[in-house]
Amino acid sequence: MKLGFSPADEEFRQELLAFLKDNTPPQLGRGRDWLGDDDDVDADGIMVIPKWARDWQAKLFDSGWMIPGYPPALGGRDCTPTQTLIYLEEMARHGIPRSLHFGGYAIVAPSLLEFGNDQQKAMVPAAIRGDTIWCIGMSEPNAGSDLAALSTRAIDDGDSFIVNGQKVWTSYAMLAAKCFCYVRTDPNVPKHKGISVLIIDVDSPGIEVRPLRHMSRRAEFAEVFFSDVVVPKENLVGELNDGWRITMGSLAHERGALWVEGVMAASRAIDDVVTLAQELGLDEDANVRRKVAELAMEVRSLRALGYKGFASFSQGSSAPEHSYMKVAVAEVRKRIYELAMDLQGEDGPITDPRYAASGARWQRSWMTGLASTIGGGTSEIQRNVIATRVLGLPRS
Ligand SMILES: Cc1cc2nc3c(=O)[nH]c(=O)nc-3n(C[C@H](O)[C@H](O)[C@H](O)COP(=O)(O)OP(=O)(O)OC[C@H]3O[C@@H](n4cnc5c(N)ncnc54)[C@H](O)[C@@H]3O)c2cc1C
Repeated sequence: MKLGFSPADEEFRQELLAFLKDNTPPQLGRGRDWLGDDDDVDADGIMVIPKWARDWQAKLFDSGWMIPGYPPALGGRDCTPTQTLIYLEEMARHGIPRSLHFGGYAIVAPSLLEFGNDQQKAMVPAAIRGDTIWCIGMSEPNAGSDLAALSTRAIDDGDSFIVNGQKVWTSYAMLAAKCFCYVRTDPNVPKHKGISVLIIDVDSPGIEVRPLRHMSRRAEFAEVFFSDVVVPKENLVGELNDGWRITMGSLAHERGALWVEGVMAASRAIDDVVTLAQELGLDEDANVRRKVAELAMEVRSLRALGYKGFASFSQGSSAPEHSYMKVAVAEVRKRIYELAMDLQGEDGPITDPRYAASGARWQRSWMTGLASTIGGGTSEIQRNVIATRVLGLPRS
């Protein structure tokens, strides 16, 4: 058995690397696995999308490097699943994000391609190119882990729905033109069966977006309030009351490729911890060496497991490995960053970039890492999924 990439795949890799070398904006490519730099927030710490980031996403799309597995009209080059994996790994290995807002290309686009009508499918190229910024309205104050409990209500009013309610933790809502919004259209059936998805223009009368700041002091998500918002009926995605199926698809799209980024960020972080230990003169310390080696082995095993899940997913099968990868990658990253802060000793707890060692690189990574144990389904919920759906254990 020959394990390795074919000459055509290696050629694909070289073409990508040449493109990245010639085109990557100077603001990227520095291995950002921490919450962004200062040019993607305004003076109040509220996220903005700088022009270079918009141009970069558009260039990737126009050159067929945005989602290489898609056809050229959708920002791709019809590449194979293996080449997609190579693409995702190289982008993540070099710490180069495709976009500063992943909802549109990673969640909305595949969901509209699968469930949307022709008019909605026509919105996909702009979502992938970043010309339209999307937010995803799922979570509510009383519906996070238990998403099916969502209560934002859409009432049938003839040609339109009237929407009332509140979303929370809505990433990019303050930048977005459109919201892919999960609403309750029938309160009289079991909760999973009365949910629908609406495309809502964020500048519609009756919508208020209030940015929320997270512990790094940046505001990347928001609360979104809906008061008698009129949404045309043609903005319904898929069938009425069939939104739960779309939800499950959206979350699978979110998880399908995220592990690659996470594993590669973890690999880079391991290399950086080794450098940190050397700089601090701790690289001969047996205890430090053992801890780094254990984490490095864990990251390598996760990469192998990710490959296995990717193989199933790209052949159209479900990949329970992805639930495991989501928890395991998020948790291992957090532990790598904690080890780095431990090694920094008394500098470890200082989070303010003005005073922290290395511009708070480890502290900011830790904050991002902590967020990834929550966003897209918490580690506890993923463990429940593994227990019941993968291991077949009874629900408690
Ligand atoms: C960076 C980031 C970006 C996000 N972006 C978006 C977005 O764009 N759109 C959007 O809709 N949402 C977004 N979210 C919200 C995210 O999906 C929710 O935070 C997440 O699903 C958890 O819901 P919750 O915050 O309501 O916590 P809760 O569900 O209230 O959970 C609180 C705690 O209880 C635990 N818990 C809850 N139920 C169980 C159970 N059955 N068994 C064991 N433990 C349990 C949880 O694990 C958690 O520790 C984002 C979150 C983050 C961190």
